[in-house]
Amino acid sequence: MSNLDLFLNLTAPNGRQYTQPTGLFINDEFVKSKSGQTIASIDPATTREIASVYAAGAEDVDNAVKAAKAALNDPSWKLLPATDRGILMGRLADLIEKNKELLATIDAWDNGKPYHVALSEDLVEAITTFRYYSGWADKTFGQTISTTPKKFAYTIRQPIGVVGQIIPWNYPLSMAAWKLGPALVCGNTVVIKAAEQTPLSILVLATLIKEAGFPKGVVNIINGYGCEAGAALVQHPLVDKVAFTGSTATGREIMKMAAGSLKNITLETGGKSPLIVFNDTDMEQAVKWSHFGIMSNQGQICTATSRIFVQKDVYETFVEQFTSAVKSTSKIGDQWDESTFQGPQVTRAQYDRVLEYIRLGISEGATVVSGGGPHPPNSNGEAGYYISPTVFTNVTDSMRIYREEIFGPVVVIMPFETEEEAIKRANNTTFGLGAAVFTKDLERAHRVAAEIESGMVWINSSQDCDPGVPFGGVKQSGIGRELGEAGLEAYSQVKAVHVNLGSKL
Ligand code: ADP
Repeated sequence: MSNLDLFLNLTAPNGRQYTQPTGLFINDEFVKSKSGQTIASIDPATTREIASVYAAGAEDVDNAVKAAKAALNDPSWKLLPATDRGILMGRLADLIEKNKELLATIDAWDNGKPYHVALSEDLVEAITTFRYYSGWADKTFGQTISTTPKKFAYTIRQPIGVVGQIIPWNYPLSMAAWKLGPALVCGNTVVIKAAEQTPLSILVLATLIKEAGFPKGVVNIINGYGCEAGAALVQHPLVDKVAFTGSTATGREIMKMAAGSLKNITLETGGKSPLIVFNDTDMEQAVKWSHFGIMSNQGQICTATSRIFVQKDVYETFVEQFTSAVKSTSKIGDQWDESTFQGPQVTRAQYDRVLEYIRLGISEGATVVSGGGPHPPNSNGEAGYYISPTVFTNVTDSMRIYREEIFGPVVVIMPFETEEEAIKRANNTTFGLGAAVFTKDLERAHRVAAEIESGMVWINSSQDCDPGVPFGGVKQSGIGRELGEAGLEAYSQVKAVHVNLGSKL
């Protein structure tokens, strides 16, 4: 039981001072959790606490959901013209842009990602996603359908209702934007729960949502533990839909819990994405993108291209060039150094988990050609959750480091002989999120793209993402799509209205 101030004045390591809200944002106000329960947020570069924030229990979740339910039927939201919903969202995008250095500072501090990456990638993605969806607000509508001369029908697109959204810690603000953007332009109301590892930036986002002028109760933002606040949100009888991004194991639990009241769900879960390099490829490009595809964001990307298949005759060259790219490009350091490529893993738990996989790979008999353990403390001599980017060869398709999502800077590189073999092995996984193919042969590029079992394929690239392009997985990597026009499907439902014109006949 604690009694924190609802607003703290903090100074980040880069000198930026700001006011950090700590409460649960319910019905447009920051409030304390009923139990006084809190979550401590840690700087993973120093392992020191940044701040504690309030963590929701079931009673707080109930209050947030009821606020969202009331807002759903409030004329200030329900009757707001679609164009005006878009204007609100555009205003939110502008406010995020105005505060982008602050928001990037908080995410870098809380998550461990380099500040320059948070600013030039995460924040840009969040801003462009909100802007993209602001344009959709008044561009979704139904159809008229002719049936018989005496009758016709039309459809209207309506919001699904109260949406519970659960997001992960690897891209705190862009994941919030992916969820809030389409849900709000479709007219839903929301309770969104941030990940307990990165609870800070979303509370500052809450202040901007308020400033943008969204009616009260339309967006409710809570922090809280997954098994407690997350589970309460998923099971709440007034929640009509659940949208989740996180691990496959948690996605499975959420699906089970949502079954209780047959809730509509979308899930974006884990991956073990293949990247295939054919012998005709531009080797420099293949090395550059495959390095980025697994080592960026500390390897903490659900679409990380973590299984690299290289055609046999260029295999040795690729491994050599990839390993030297890891040594020369993966500059490890704290979040604030402009030259840092790789910061610390987000938490002690993730750090331990990744190291455990590295040990497992070694005990399974794979060869470490680079890295293979923790990285020494940072330049200030402080401890931090740093891991050396690790490259394994001599990996078989049955090893756990080949089959399971590691979610860290660890890659396995395997040789293959034929296109058929590469496709078969790439598809030999329960996951199906991303995939990449490197070749100069146009026909082969498109043939392989069609054959890979995944929601997305990059040709001669890795990790491209755009708010206008659908994102999601097949197999155990997810259900439904986010982003693009496809992302609207998750947040609206079609009602059919039959009209009888035949009463005089
Ligand atoms: P990770 O293992 O990387 O932390 P998770 O899938 O556990 O990934 O977490 C992603 C999000 O899901 C977080 O917001 C977390 O709080 C939430 N979560 C975890 N467990 C549950 C659960 N049982 N019910 C609902 N949400 C959960």
